[in-house]
Amino acid sequence: MVKACLKNFLILLIPAFILFPADSYAKVFKKNMTVMGTALEVTVSSDGPAKAEGAFAIVYKEMSRIEDEMSEWKDGTYVSLINRNAGKKAVKVPDELFKLIAASIQVSEITDGAFDITWAAMRGVWDFTPGRERVPSPEEVRGRLGLVDYRKIELDEKNRTVFLKGEGMAMGLGAIAKGYAVDRAMRAVADSGIKDAIIRAGGDMRVQGLDDEGKPWEIGIRQPREKDKLLARLRLTNISISTSGDYERFFIKDNVLYHHIMDPKTGYPAKACRSVTILAPDTMTSDALSTAVFVLGPQKGMELIKKLKGVEGIIVDSDGAVHTSPGIRINR
Ligand code: ADP
Ligand code: MG
Repeated sequence: MVKACLKNFLILLIPAFILFPADSYAKVFKKNMTVMGTALEVTVSSDGPAKAEGAFAIVYKEMSRIEDEMSEWKDGTYVSLINRNAGKKAVKVPDELFKLIAASIQVSEITDGAFDITWAAMRGVWDFTPGRERVPSPEEVRGRLGLVDYRKIELDEKNRTVFLKGEGMAMGLGAIAKGYAVDRAMRAVADSGIKDAIIRAGGDMRVQGLDDEGKPWEIGIRQPREKDKLLARLRLTNISISTSGDYERFFIKDNVLYHHIMDPKTGYPAKACRSVTILAPDTMTSDALSTAVFVLGPQKGMELIKKLKGVEGIIVDSDGAVHTSPGIRINR
């Protein structure tokens, strides 16, 4: 009798288990915040709000910590200290900043200088701040161009110091630090036991685990010129995705669109693309490469994407034509 009961119970239990997998009560929780001067959106699939609230706090804390170390806008950060000491002396920095600057230089090397954190010397002449927009004269651009050169960043491995060799030089990590911060924030979230989450800071996103239905997350990539239209929908998990576009930060003067991605060779905004989306194993890489490929343009940019392991890309060129790397399948 007991045996028969047990048997029935087991029979009932098995289909129930199949019908209701472990995370069938998961729900999606979302929070919007601002950090590092951009919109931060954290999405968590979890069985209750408490876990999700915990993740939101972890992400905000970790990204604010990195902002305080690496922003070139805030006084008292290590990056502003390096910039203030350009041409004067080397500055000792925390290990993670040292490594991020070393990684930036590597991206410069593989992109033949299309990516260059010393583009920031141009900041004095270009201004993208709303209300203060400024286009420099060709002479001003020429005057600053000599200060843009990643080869003049001196890294001392042993002492962990960074030195900008030329007076007037400056660095800005705007194209790589956000991606790095997203990676670190996701690591902290994972360490707290949450597997299923998305962290998006502006155009940089880390997608981890599964959605509330147990499927890879659905991610939309928007059309560069039409805010509400999607270029593609991708089902993604455990991957990073970054988009750089000429529509993110720009102004129009005398019918010309000036945006914030600079070609370090000319000192003017890069012209060959409208937007570049990169998929990569980590967000530091996708962030830096989306900016770099934007500057390189569709041909050279796609050649680079194809050469790099685990990297895929979608490029919208200046005519609006869409170029995709071999690993991308677009479900429109
Ligand atoms: P977003 O900030 O919108 O995510 P990006 O990741 O493409 O966009 O980064 C653009 C930022 O990178 C600019 O605002 C500027 O701070 C910096 N930047 C601009 N041009 C370059 C370049 N050629 N190399 C490295 N950094 C750049
Ligand atoms: Mg970038």
